[in-house]
Amino acid sequence: MFEVLERDGLGRIGVIETRHGPVTTPALLPVVNPNRPIIRPADLATRFGAEILITNAYILGKSPQRDEILRKGVHEFLGFPRAIMTDSGAFQSHVYGGIDVTNREVVEFQRRIGVDLGTMLDVFSEPGEDHDRAAADVDETIRRAKETVSLRGEMRVVAAVQGGLHSDLRERCAREISSLDASVYAIGGVVPLLESYRFRDLVRVIVASKKGLDPSRPVHLFGAGHPLVFPLAALLGCDLFDSASYAKYARAGRMLFSDGTRRASEMRESGCLCAVCTSHSMDEIARNESLLAEHNLHACFGAIREVRRAIAHGDLWELAERRARAHPALLTALRELRRHNEFLEEYEPLSRRAALYYVGPETAHRPVLHRIRRRLAERYAPPPAKGLVVLPEGDRPFSERNAHIVERILASGEVHVVVKSVWGPVPLELDHIWPMSQTIVPDTLDTEALEAAEVFFREWAAGAGYPFGVLWEGDTTLDEVRTRAPGARTVDWNALRIRATADLQFGHGSADALLEGNVSYILSKNTGKVRNVFVDGEHVLSLRAEDGFFTLKAAGARRLLKAFSPPALRVVVDADSVPFHREGKNVFAKFVRDADPDLRPGDEALVVSPDDELCAVGQVEMNRREMLAFKRGVAARVREGVPPPPSAPPH
Ligand SMILES: [Zn+2]
Repeated sequence: MFEVLERDGLGRIGVIETRHGPVTTPALLPVVNPNRPIIRPADLATRFGAEILITNAYILGKSPQRDEILRKGVHEFLGFPRAIMTDSGAFQSHVYGGIDVTNREVVEFQRRIGVDLGTMLDVFSEPGEDHDRAAADVDETIRRAKETVSLRGEMRVVAAVQGGLHSDLRERCAREISSLDASVYAIGGVVPLLESYRFRDLVRVIVASKKGLDPSRPVHLFGAGHPLVFPLAALLGCDLFDSASYAKYARAGRMLFSDGTRRASEMRESGCLCAVCTSHSMDEIARNESLLAEHNLHACFGAIREVRRAIAHGDLWELAERRARAHPALLTALRELRRHNEFLEEYEPLSRRAALYYVGPETAHRPVLHRIRRRLAERYAPPPAKGLVVLPEGDRPFSERNAHIVERILASGEVHVVVKSVWGPVPLELDHIWPMSQTIVPDTLDTEALEAAEVFFREWAAGAGYPFGVLWEGDTTLDEVRTRAPGARTVDWNALRIRATADLQFGHGSADALLEGNVSYILSKNTGKVRNVFVDGEHVLSLRAEDGFFTLKAAGARRLLKAFSPPALRVVVDADSVPFHREGKNVFAKFVRDADPDLRPGDEALVVSPDDELCAVGQVEMNRREMLAFKRGVAARVREGVPPPPSAPPH
């Protein structure tokens, strides 16, 4: 029912199939108040391109037109031909302190009026609730979620995560409702956080919920309708947003923009090019609630499209970091993200097509850079030398730009060379891996970024084990090198680059396994860089020019299979699908039995049978959590099928 087409961070462009057409995520669901629709639902589809709207089943059920709604069904009643989701009244119970319907009543009503996505009546935990009270709410929410699934009939169910600000409860609730057959999971109870700009708490709630939720289902963030929060929430894996803000703010004479809210009466120009702003004066707009609502809705849809554009281009992190500058509370939330890097990193691709732009000191803490620093500490083996010379950040690629300096340094002493970059230390032989060469940073850096770079560097250097390190300060440094590390070092940079990249990409010890024997290379005629690596005449690796990482060949895969025990580097498939992968067919998620928890989207992987026989080599598109959850979509793109070994007995 939900298929992911593109991804970035935890954000995904996907398609949800409904009986009333497909819904592309991230999606905006305009809230339609059935008693007071400020924009006609039909117009939402035709003029705004809305694929789905959300209205309130509790209000519909209390309406004087209840009988008509039941007779016509919700689509005909509202005059909206596309998908319709209903909310149940949990939010009303938050506002009024309780409502007079049961979960069973509201679920059955939603089913009878033919909604595409019907929501359970969850128990709204207020942010201030203590652990005991919130735990009781979670227990009741889970009980009702089970009841809802049992009553659903043809209707698809939205099950909600509650638990207030208690991360353990959010995660438990998410895990329990994930075991139920719901089509969408909603994160509830966050409106009080949004209204008071508690975006850091919002981040904690989303992350805790996402940790427990089935990643193969879309996630709705209930009540998040201001475009300001879309990039950050989408980055954390929220796929659906409902906006009542467009109408609420219009009533108050306020206009929404992707970077905030402004009072219409205080502006001469809006700076917006929507249909409303280009054909009406500000005076007209300011006096007309409908026009304000229309502009607001254009702004919300525009902001969602911008998020989708960013996911497709792989720069959603940039968008979220830039947008965070629009409000200090959002910047606080952005700075919270680094505390969740262990989880966020699982979803980060190995590399991206685009260069990595420095946005602010937060950029260095992105999970993808956190991963490189961690892998450098855990996987990379610094080559033996008597000391270290540290080059300052400069033009890239570092090795080419500093070639003449490096030559003189190595002629003067037995040292290794590393660059102290804003992303962390970069041993010179690793400067081609993404994003070390594909980075745009300002010439002058702010103090916070420099201090962080210093910390990253010291942490790595302490573990690298060189007896000393000196900062490159020109020719005087050569004298120091001569004294402290007498001798000279001859480096085969191609060999060093291949070894270091292999260990970093596949794990410590990979270089030894892959390169044991007689190694030869084919160099690119254009760039002079290594393109293909052969060992004992077998093609084991190809180096990709675009991101500096390896493409693994079958001969290389055989070597890694021998050197690393399961589950390392493996995607284990069902026995039935083994013959297909041997012929080069892709691995679909539903055939995956297990996988290495360290695999990340974009990593090379060994596709193996349940008996650990190599049957293909490919590039994974999902992490383990996703492979095991998704029933649709490609888990690994197979590049090379591997026939059974000739000695294997026939069966
Ligand atoms: Zn406008």
